[in-house]
Amino acid sequence: MHEEPPAPARTTAPHPPSCPPSPPAAEHVTTTIERGSFCLARCTCGWSGPARRSRDRARTDAAEHVMAPQQP
Ligand SMILES: [Zn+2]
Repeated sequence: MHEEPPAPARTTAPHPPSCPPSPPAAEHVTTTIERGSFCLARCTCGWSGPARRSRDRARTDAAEHVMAPQQP
């Protein structure tokens, strides 16, 4: 009769906790960037609005995009 000794408890590193879950793709964070005398809205999803003469208008474009994001 031969019995194997119990395997020693190995402390292998589990799945690293720093591994974040994939972020939701439907997150839209907009910024306005200035280009010369124009201003345009830009989004983290890759969308960018048309160049506007007023920053206010670019912000409106951004707000409209966040409300109803267009699919590319
Ligand atoms: Zn977006």
